[in-house]
Amino acid sequence: MPSVKSCRRCGRIFNYRGSAVCDSCRKEETREAKRISEYLAGNPQATAVDISSALNIRLDRVQEYLKRHV
Ligand SMILES: [Zn+2]
Repeated sequence: MPSVKSCRRCGRIFNYRGSAVCDSCRKEETREAKRISEYLAGNPQATAVDISSALNIRLDRVQEYLKRHV
């Protein structure tokens, strides 16, 4: 029986395969990460708050991205 977890992001129960978030959240995180990296490429001095308001992505998700990628 596969192990199940509740998604760190939406709270839904999903089959755990090494990621802390479910498949649909993972896809969404990938999309958001792409938008953030594109924005940062054009605005290298942008802060997390700038990115959050420019892209309409929740601040905690932007900070999470920056923690992992900077
Ligand atoms: Zn989820």
